[in-house]
Amino acid sequence: KLASREFRPESSRVRVGAVEIGGPEIVVIAGPCSVESLEQLLETAQAVGEAGAALLRGGAFKPRTSPYAFQGLAEQGLKLLAQTRAQTGLGVVTEVLSPAEVELVAAHADMLQVGARNMQNFPLLREVGRSRRPVLLKRGLSATIEEWLMAAEYVMSEGNHQVVLCERGIRTFETATRNTLDLSAVPVVKERSHLPVVVDPSHGTGYWSLVAPMALAAVAAGADGLLVEVHPRPDQALSDGPQSLKPDRFAQMMEGVRAVARSV
Ligand code: PEP
Ligand code: MN
Repeated sequence: KLASREFRPESSRVRVGAVEIGGPEIVVIAGPCSVESLEQLLETAQAVGEAGAALLRGGAFKPRTSPYAFQGLAEQGLKLLAQTRAQTGLGVVTEVLSPAEVELVAAHADMLQVGARNMQNFPLLREVGRSRRPVLLKRGLSATIEEWLMAAEYVMSEGNHQVVLCERGIRTFETATRNTLDLSAVPVVKERSHLPVVVDPSHGTGYWSLVAPMALAAVAAGADGLLVEVHPRPDQALSDGPQSLKPDRFAQMMEGVRAVARSV
């Protein structure tokens, strides 16, 4: 299989613009859950960039549990992301929800995110597989590692081998956290696959106070990068405020990340 270590013994590196995921540097992708306005996005992008994030994240198409919740700014959000890239130089990672929107999202973004809820949307996996953009493939809410790797296989089998896996927590009986961050998935995936792995401690825990400790643990476990939600005013965020770091706390987390990265 294309994603397996047997097929390719050396670890793969995935390029996103000038950034390389899977190399010696820990790549931190940071930004708001949702793109809300140009001001919010620019303010966040400048702050996370100064703190050492390599890429900007932000959702324009949001997969919300309730159809009455904020669904994202859609194409307008993509334009704000592209505008913020032009002003800050940060490459942009954003989610694509449906096969029909892959071309539009790929025209504005540097990397396509496939969300947890879509990990087994096979037509979407095939369509991003036909795109030339790198893909960030999040683990499904109840997906085994084998199912996750087979989802990567769908993308790669269409010709796009630029896949980065993202552990973002799974459903368990535990209710103290939003999800249970499966950090053992990092070394397991590293044994079985050559693809880079990043960890999302924001969705993985659901609470901002747990984000930094799990980010450091992820780096210690061998993650190639992190996906972290940051908002200048989390109490006003239109989605995922409780798990979003304020910029100063993100900067503190980055110091810890660098310290752990130096020692592993
Ligand atoms: C997100 O990254 O904002 C998101 C919706 O993530 P997930 O698909 O992991 O829930
Ligand atoms: Mn989110």
